[in-house]
Amino acid sequence: MSNIINGKEVAKALREGLAARVVELEKIHGRTPNLVVILVGEDPGSVSYVTGKAKAATEIGIRNTTIRRPETITEEELLAIIAELNADADVDGILVQLPLPKHIDEQNVIAAILPEKDVDAFHPCNVGKMWLKQPTVLPCTPKGIIKLLKESGTELSGKNVVVVGRSNIVGQPVSKLLLNENATVTIAHSRTANLKEVTLRADILIVAIGKERFVTADMIKPGAVVIDVGVNRDSRNGKLCGDVDFEEAQHVASKITPVPGGVGPMTIACLMENTVECFERRIVK
Ligand code: NDP
Repeated sequence: MSNIINGKEVAKALREGLAARVVELEKIHGRTPNLVVILVGEDPGSVSYVTGKAKAATEIGIRNTTIRRPETITEEELLAIIAELNADADVDGILVQLPLPKHIDEQNVIAAILPEKDVDAFHPCNVGKMWLKQPTVLPCTPKGIIKLLKESGTELSGKNVVVVGRSNIVGQPVSKLLLNENATVTIAHSRTANLKEVTLRADILIVAIGKERFVTADMIKPGAVVIDVGVNRDSRNGKLCGDVDFEEAQHVASKITPVPGGVGPMTIACLMENTVECFERRIVK
């Protein structure tokens, strides 16, 4: 039996469920959720992410628009677009694709989005609510990781989980969500001493550092569950690869996510779920 956690399949099931939910919502409320994505510049990675998000939304029945602006847009102009979308009652979700050009302060932009429409869950209000365990929209990648672990039948309560990486969008929030599931969580980062000793203690190892094949098989406890968040270009062949040396690690781990086809599809599916949730929260207000 394969020990690969198939994120593509889990994400597909989630998207199908959402499509059915959107049909029901339209019957009840007479409209479907509406997502607006703002893309600044033409970075190929960002363009590809935005295209993927638009395609997923359309397939689910979520109305969606991509507003494209050149790299030269000023912060003021971008904030004015967000203010307009905030005021538009027919818009349920607003997403600004990151990163933004250097002359624009990302934190200002994130904070300008109405928290109720913040489908990425990056707004300080939503981040605060998540840490306080109050009902709110949850960040997509951490949410997707928890869903993947649960769908793969992995017990979290009481397990030693090591998260390598402490970013605001992955490492820290996923650690909090794991804590909420009663896992015992260790967060490692670039200053962690003896990283291998730390990772070898993990029943569940989550890696989000952005370094190709950095975690090798000898850093994994035999039988551990490994979630690879990394998205890198493999310097050997130019293909996508993760932060974990998958070829070797799959023989040590009891379960492991591939790259691509693991966490990535879950992130997009969870973004769609967040859009539907934002719609539902706004409509019952
Ligand atoms: P960041 O660059 O924001 O953070 C990287 C983290 O890794 C930092 O906390 C850093 O430590 C830590 N780190 C770097 N080098 C080492 C090292 N040698 N040993 C231990 N820790 C180290 O990255 P993100 O969290 O945004 O993304 C991580 C990866 O996940 C990237 O490849 C990204 O593309 C991918 N990603 C994938 C998503 C998906 O949907 N599949 C979504 C989001 C990200 P320190 O804090 O000390 O600097």
